[in-house]
Amino acid sequence: MQDDVVKYFLELISIDSESGNERAIIDHLTSDLKVLGAKVEEDDAYVLSGGNAGNLYAQIPGNIDKKPILFCVHCDTVKPGKGIKPIISDGIIRSDGTTILGSDDKSGIAELFTAIKDILENEEKHPPMEILITVSEEVGLLGAKHFDKTRLKSALGYALDAHQVEELVIGAPAQNSIQITFFGKESHAGVEPEKGINAIRVAAEAITTMPIGRIDHETTSNIGLIKGGIATNIVPNKVEVKGEARSHNRSKLDQVTADIHHCIEQAVQHYQYDFGGASFDWKVNLEYEAFYIPDSEPVVQLAIDAMHRIGLTPKVVIGGGGSDANIINASGLPMIICGTGMNKVHTLDEEIEIEQLLKGKEFLKALIQRYAEL
Ligand SMILES: [Zn+2]
Repeated sequence: MQDDVVKYFLELISIDSESGNERAIIDHLTSDLKVLGAKVEEDDAYVLSGGNAGNLYAQIPGNIDKKPILFCVHCDTVKPGKGIKPIISDGIIRSDGTTILGSDDKSGIAELFTAIKDILENEEKHPPMEILITVSEEVGLLGAKHFDKTRLKSALGYALDAHQVEELVIGAPAQNSIQITFFGKESHAGVEPEKGINAIRVAAEAITTMPIGRIDHETTSNIGLIKGGIATNIVPNKVEVKGEARSHNRSKLDQVTADIHHCIEQAVQHYQYDFGGASFDWKVNLEYEAFYIPDSEPVVQLAIDAMHRIGLTPKVVIGGGGSDANIINASGLPMIICGTGMNKVHTLDEEIEIEQLLKGKEFLKALIQRYAEL
């Protein structure tokens, strides 16, 4: 017989929930949380996400007097995530190759809900628990950004959204998203090109001089999208470029962003004429702040203890991506990210080992038990 965590995981991935289209999964999780005895509220995160559902904020009462412990998971998936058909072989669950699997992040939800169910059914000592289920995480952490973090009362928190169960992610970079529009001057490329200013050429000059790629051990940047031009016989007057910069160090993030801006200014200066000049429009947005929680902090120690208790060897790592934990940490509540077993996420080869689902559930049980004992 399949373990309940596997069964529940398969149930969750059968419900389509691409970002912005989380209505069905939110309704399903609302009723499952109520079965667990939780008080459940849905907010209006769709105002920001443009989707059809809000975040769920659930509170499960404890039977001991203690500050709550917070768990954060997201219920949306990347595309293509409609009509997922799981195939199980050799202890690994995969999709049929035409969609993602949805283990990011439904493995976290399945492990969490079944762990809590066991604890409640066995009438174990447990603290009050807060559960935050976010929407539109995959499209810019929109649910977490919109959620009213002042509602959270927990002493510490765990996002369940990293790879192998043994992994504990204790830091992640800050990220700036960057949008640049280069403006030139349109003219006929064959008749009077000298009256035009080629925006593609201005953009190209700026991009070749920008710091791009790995800047140092904790800083990266990238230009990822470029769009412009209408026809080969028209000198293009507009090019849109999108990129990003990340760093674990906020002043380095500001520096690389300023360096990119400087390269654009320099390039644009080279294209100023009597009849007009190139120009640009610049938008930078801090998507999320960095966080770093030292090993010695209780939120990390508790997770390490819980792993040791069930015979796992924790691997404490620093992450390279942003997640809901960046947003929660910025609100002042310490949160690390735990692995759930998800693998090759955001690809059609996404997979999860059944062994990892079982381990993830056992780890969360141990984590709640350990916190109850403190
Ligand atoms: Zn995720």
